[in-house]
Amino acid sequence: MDAAESWGHADLVVLNSCTVTSAADEDLRHTVRRVHRENPDARILVTGCYAQRAPEEIAALPGVEWVVGNSDKTHIPDLVADELGHFHGQIHVHDIFAQHQFLSAPVEDAAGDRARPNLKIQDGCNNRCSFCVIPFVRGRSRSMPADQVIEQVRGLSRNYREVVLSGVNLGRWGREPGSTMRLVGLVKRMLDETPVERLRLSSVEPMDFSDELLGLMAESGRIAKHVHAPLQSGADTVLRRMHRKYRPRHYADRVQKARAWMPDAAVGADVMVGFPGETDAEFEETFQFIDSLPFTYLHVFTYSARPGTPAATAPGQVPMPIRKERNRRLRELAERKNLAFRKRFNGETLSVVTLGQGKMALSSNYLKVELVRESHDNVLRDVRIGGLTDQGLREFDPLRVL
Ligand code: SF4
Repeated sequence: MDAAESWGHADLVVLNSCTVTSAADEDLRHTVRRVHRENPDARILVTGCYAQRAPEEIAALPGVEWVVGNSDKTHIPDLVADELGHFHGQIHVHDIFAQHQFLSAPVEDAAGDRARPNLKIQDGCNNRCSFCVIPFVRGRSRSMPADQVIEQVRGLSRNYREVVLSGVNLGRWGREPGSTMRLVGLVKRMLDETPVERLRLSSVEPMDFSDELLGLMAESGRIAKHVHAPLQSGADTVLRRMHRKYRPRHYADRVQKARAWMPDAAVGADVMVGFPGETDAEFEETFQFIDSLPFTYLHVFTYSARPGTPAATAPGQVPMPIRKERNRRLRELAERKNLAFRKRFNGETLSVVTLGQGKMALSSNYLKVELVRESHDNVLRDVRIGGLTDQGLREFDPLRVL
């Protein structure tokens, strides 16, 4: 099978779906209709989380021949190679909770990104946050074996300066019964046994940022100074209804320690507004809580009901205009905090990896830096900062001041 230039020329189109919000579902349906309209002869296979959650819904869309859940993803090559059409038109979805092994294709390049490959080393989640559909479509927490992680990181370090470690619940890496190594031990092994120059942890639940992990991040020059810990809400009562495993004071303790030990680190969080029953007072509590902490950026999400989750049928669904207004206020707060953070680095030197998008680079502490000259991608270097751009920073350019 050869790769087509675009879906308009493809015989087979494979779409990997997300279902974390209703907007993600709508995007997938829209894409299927568009592919079918522009290339009615293409055979469409839909896989991923939406396929696992609602296969019949997807099978009913025009042009879809196969719906393959996460449970059956590894069979895709056999399904599409079946010339006799034994599998034609079938839905392939099985119990995701029966999946105990970590399955993934080896990662050899940075895919869409020309730098910074993303290495998924953990899948699934054993938590049950009341708004979240992920455990039902990704199954139980499972980890890539340590030796395989080391081998993959070693291979990626031959071509890339920075490797991003990711997972559905990354901090739970290695927590399966019988395993004694934790994420921090794995990261130490990567530093000891591979030449990787920069490792970045994508997102870790707050309580998994142990002192040991934060200490290692602070002391190693090869781990990006970047702490991303999902918060969701700063109100104790909302966190309880969400079935999150920490209270605001626990979260604050982790973030303040991260800041104390890494004064220049990026500190980010996912926050959800408009969770069922969220009152004005609870939202204000969240606002004040966030304002009091050293965040440098936020990902703000508007709550969207996911079928099958307890929150979807909970009383007190918040009207959409209120959800949107709360979202706007938090974004504004995040922008203010981000601007103050960026200003601190004017005149300072930051370590960056060039991104191969003209003149762009990304700093260890997660700031976009516009370089003076175009650069090859994948170069790790120090850059002196000479000013701010709309969203990031600008390299010092001696010609600009002459
Ligand atoms: S920890 Fe994250 S992935 Fe797991 S249930 Fe909660 S929100 Fe979903």
